[in-house]
Order: sequence, then C-alpha cells, then structure tokens
Amino acid sequence: MSGFLPTNPRTHKPRRPCGLCGRVTKLTKTHVPPRGAFNSGIGKRMVVGPNGSYVLESMGRPGGLAPYGHCEQCRADTSPWDDEYILWAKSLVQMLVESPAARRRRVVQFAAPRVRPGRFARAALAGMVVLAENLWQTHPDFVEAVRTGEPLSADAGMRFLMGVTPWEERREIHGAHRRVAASVLLDGSPPAKPEKTLSAMVQWAPFSLVLVDSEVAATYPHTDCTPWLEFGVNEVVPLSLQLPCVRIVSDWVATARDYEHSLV
Ligand SMILES: [Zn+2]
Repeated sequence: MSGFLPTNPRTHKPRRPCGLCGRVTKLTKTHVPPRGAFNSGIGKRMVVGPNGSYVLESMGRPGGLAPYGHCEQCRADTSPWDDEYILWAKSLVQMLVESPAARRRRVVQFAAPRVRPGRFARAALAGMVVLAENLWQTHPDFVEAVRTGEPLSADAGMRFLMGVTPWEERREIHGAHRRVAASVLLDGSPPAKPEKTLSAMVQWAPFSLVLVDSEVAATYPHTDCTPWLEFGVNEVVPLSLQLPCVRIVSDWVATARDYEHSLV
C-alpha cells in the first residue's frame, strides 16, 4: 500500500467552478442554510443515484448540510451576511413557538422597524446559487448582484420566493436548474404540459425558499421577495410582509405542484 494516501472527505476540496464567481479552484464548504440557522443536525439532499435516478441522501453528520460551493474569496466576502439570516430565523422560530396561535395560521405576519432584507436575501442566495448548477453562467447579472452585495436594478430573470414551514417538516436542499418536469397520467388523459423546474430549493424550518425562473414563479404558493435585491447589503429599512405557510407533498420536489399550503 505504499504511496496510497486515503482521502478524508471532511478535508477534501474538489476543484470545480465556484458557484458565485465561476473561478475553477479549490472550494470551501458552504453551509446551506447558514449553520447558525439550525443547520447543524440531520438533513437530506437530493443526489443522482445508480441508473440516473434521484435519491434522497441523509446527511446525519453533526455539522449540518454543507456542500463544497464557494472559493475562499467568495466565502470571505459573503459569509458576514449570514448574521441577518440567523437573526431572522431565530426571531421567527421564537415567535412561532411562543404564540398562542401556533399551528392555526395559514400566513405569518412579519414586521420589523429596522432590518436588512438585501443582506438576508443574499445570505440565502449565496448558498442557493451553489445548488443551482451553472447559474453563474446562465444568469450572470443575478449571481453578480448576490456576490457583490450591490443593488440589482434590472430584472435578471430569476425570482427568490419565500414562505415559512413548520418545525417538524422534512429538511431538504437541492437544485434542478434548467431541467423540465413532465408528468404522464395513467388514466389515459393527455399529459400535463412539461414545466420548467425550480433552480434551487431550501426547505429548512422556519423557511421554505425557492429560486426559480421568472416565467413560472407565480405558480408557487410562496411570496416573491426578489425586490429585496434592490437593497444593498447594508441598507437598513422598515419591513412588513406576509409569508404563507407551505409544506412539501412529493418525494421529488421539482415544480409548484410539489408544495401545498399548510398551517404553522
Ligand atoms: Zn468565488
């Protein structure tokens, strides 16, 4: 066995394009969602299994879900924004758990006098662009607005959707950028029109997040929060919004049909 060096998967850094800048280099682990937002336990991610089928892979290691996704520079630039995501996640969970209306709400009212929605959106999207393979090539303006934290001024073709999801819902992240879902009904009725799949999803209490092509965004039960990218990462604004409660109803989440309204 001389000359054989076992690879430790925890320290292995594959050389691939960085999800944010596209540079082919050694990548670092990227927690999706941010580690401080309850991403330190068991989760699942969708991977391509034998025969090209999709399988849900359990990631039960302590440390949470963290695919290799960013180069050192992008990680250094974007990870400071996680503070806003973590703050929102913790505040919301506390509110959901302590409220006497728990489990009876279809929507959650969220209001804050001083928050940084541009920072929250980028903390979420920095991880989601890693799941949406090659998004940096197909939607460079959108990814650039995430990477640099600069305000996005024009429609870049993608939508960032958000809902809330109950604590006990399945936790999962995956991407299916630029695929098409077709369904065939066995009762002989004509097949449904093939539909664009979502580019990335993060279903991780308290948030249900979807990154999707503008064309099909309106079919999802979530709230469209893309306008938050018009704020820079340091802009502090008052915010009031309604988030619907959504849960997953399918094994393989690809389109709006795989979500439904729920109670939280
Ligand atoms: Zn990079």
